Amino acid sequence: MIIDLTALLSGEASTIDIEFDFAPDMGEEPPMALADVTFPSGAHAKGRAVDNAGYIRLELNVTAPWQGECARCLEEVSGTLEFFFERTVAAKGTLENEEEIADYSSEYLIAENGKIAPVRELSDSIAYEFPSKVLCDPDCPGMCSRCGKSLKNGDCGCVKKDHDPRWDVLKTMKFPD
Ligand SMILES: [Zn+2]
Ligand SMILES: [Zn+2]
Repeated sequence: MIIDLTALLSGEASTIDIEFDFAPDMGEEPPMALADVTFPSGAHAKGRAVDNAGYIRLELNVTAPWQGECARCLEEVSGTLEFFFERTVAAKGTLENEEEIADYSSEYLIAENGKIAPVRELSDSIAYEFPSKVLCDPDCPGMCSRCGKSLKNGDCGCVKKDHDPRWDVLKTMKFPD
């Protein structure tokens, strides 16, 4: 996805409306929280680029419907991540620490020949905004460590605690009242 901001940079326009779909690209090694998460219908960005007294601001509302699994019971969970993505667009060659910014910046985006291609930055933001752990319910009881059954719909009937003989001595001890 390439967004042409030439009209803004040349002063022909003061606002450009922007709306596009993109496939989040988590790279070869997605962050842990996103290892089992997919974005089956892609993500959507809608907003604008505005010339604000010489500064070009990119303002996008991002929505990304996702599917994943509960970290405790492994049941399928889905949701929609929504966040606001905002950057100042700087023309290539106008910032000092450009290499650092090209690598990652939460402040700037660099335009080359008046164009930006922010899918990688948007994907990085999805990874950043995504909850570190997906749960079907904050109180999900998880799975039984013995039989592996989900405990969400009731107990599986397994004896939960192994008998620990180290505590047996307590039963034989007499404590003063
Ligand atoms: Zn769960
Ligand atoms: Zn069980």
